[in-house]
Amino acid sequence: MSETSAKIAINGAAGRMGRQLLTAVAERANTTISAAIDAPGQACIGVDSSVLSGGESTGVLVGDNVKALLASKDSFDTIVDFTRPEVSLALLDSLKDSGKRVVIGTTGFTPAQIETLTRAAETMPIVFAANYSIGVTVALSLLRQAAHALGDDYDVEIIEAHHHHKVDAPSGTALAMGHAVADALNRDLETCAVYAREGITGARDPKSIGFATVRAGDIIGEHTVLYAGNGERLEITHKATDRMTFARGAIRAAHWLGAQPAGLYDMTHVLGIADSTT
Ligand code: NAD
Repeated sequence: MSETSAKIAINGAAGRMGRQLLTAVAERANTTISAAIDAPGQACIGVDSSVLSGGESTGVLVGDNVKALLASKDSFDTIVDFTRPEVSLALLDSLKDSGKRVVIGTTGFTPAQIETLTRAAETMPIVFAANYSIGVTVALSLLRQAAHALGDDYDVEIIEAHHHHKVDAPSGTALAMGHAVADALNRDLETCAVYAREGITGARDPKSIGFATVRAGDIIGEHTVLYAGNGERLEITHKATDRMTFARGAIRAAHWLGAQPAGLYDMTHVLGIADSTT
């Protein structure tokens, strides 16, 4: 079946992910870049978006105001946002009643901010995923399966590593992995997570889920979930080696979202495996 066309806007176009998203739009058939936005005052404002991603001129000049774009009804169908939590929420507020669709890749939201995002999805189709790679989406399903099978006899620890520019910790992906394991073990991550250990900590609480964070160099994103029992351990690891894996997944999500009613979706919906992963 041939894919319908999609007009896509990128919010945070000058960022590490924004540039990859521009490339992912350019390489996908039936997809056009309709708008590119970054923060007011950035050097890229007013330049052709191809300056950020390389490749041929798009004729789309980087703007700094999404509201200005909404005046033209045909400006874009779906906006893909990889920025900062407060920027993503301001974007959702600007798009109220606009009929637009939103793919959010930003991480680091507080529980209260996620509630705001969830409310916005009552009237707007939104895909929100801490990780748009296919491998991590499959890993989340494997993690649930392993936790079900191993139960409370195995200690669970989550180790993640990212580049030194990353501003939130633990990563959104590590938290999503923690939630997947906690749900499968009937635990509440809010109360069982241990995010740091120092000094005389006492013995490990067997019902805890520990997190360890590494920030160094240009690591794109690595996650290991360790299930340690007596006499054996199981490790499920994902390593991203190229940001394009996230960008291609997010643009795939933007296409998929074109046919969906208002609601909050994640990558399992996009891949059509939502029912088999819970
Ligand atoms: P980055 O700092 O390189 O890019 C963020 C961009 O947002 C910058 O260009 C910045 O100028 C822009 N920005 C800031 N304020 C803005 C505003 N008001 N309007 C428009 N643009 C604005 O960060 P990054 O490495 O690209 O990561 C961005 C986010 O995406 C982070 O939260 C990161 O954790 C997340 N991320 C998610 C995935 C995933 O698969 N979900 C993958 C990688 C990164």
